[in-house]
Amino acid sequence: MSKVTFYYGTMNAGKTTLLLQAAFNYKEQGLVPIIIKPSIDTRTGTDASIASRVGLSQPCLLLGPDQTISGLLLDLAEKPDIVIVDEIHFLTAHQAKDLLNHAVMHDQAFICYGLRNDYKGQAFEASSILMANADSLKEVKTICRCGKKATHVVRYFENGEIDLGFQQIQIGGNESYRSMCRVCHTHTLQRGTI
Ligand SMILES: [Zn+2]
Repeated sequence: MSKVTFYYGTMNAGKTTLLLQAAFNYKEQGLVPIIIKPSIDTRTGTDASIASRVGLSQPCLLLGPDQTISGLLLDLAEKPDIVIVDEIHFLTAHQAKDLLNHAVMHDQAFICYGLRNDYKGQAFEASSILMANADSLKEVKTICRCGKKATHVVRYFENGEIDLGFQQIQIGGNESYRSMCRVCHTHTLQRGTI
């Protein structure tokens, strides 16, 4: 089955926990899942695993910036039943299109997880390609501090100032992130403090 499903949401919505649960469910049914994540994400170190905030973890394959998902998959001895891709927003446009193409050409099902937009409210390129082309879109919801659904994220420093410097892909550092609804996001960016 060539179905591509995209679970999108903002930060801290529990996407990684859902991903690990999905991998577990496939294994429990005797099926073979493969988890892939872009190697740009170094939060779990270099041991190639995915860890969620609630303490679960799974080994995974790392996708380098110059590799393609089809390249990784065609190197495997056995075709997986499902390919689960984390942090899809860190893929390049070329890698996202390769994923969509591979799904059709090799009748391979994918479940992808990632952010829809960055902290300035701008789309990630790979995410917008998935939004435009995935067979199924599923929103992973979390709540803003005002109680509405959070759809945006802000990045702020320890002193509470909002980080307005623009670098879409930045991992680690001294910033923190908070998910908000679009109304609180707009007011917070204008105010300049969390
Ligand atoms: Zn709000």
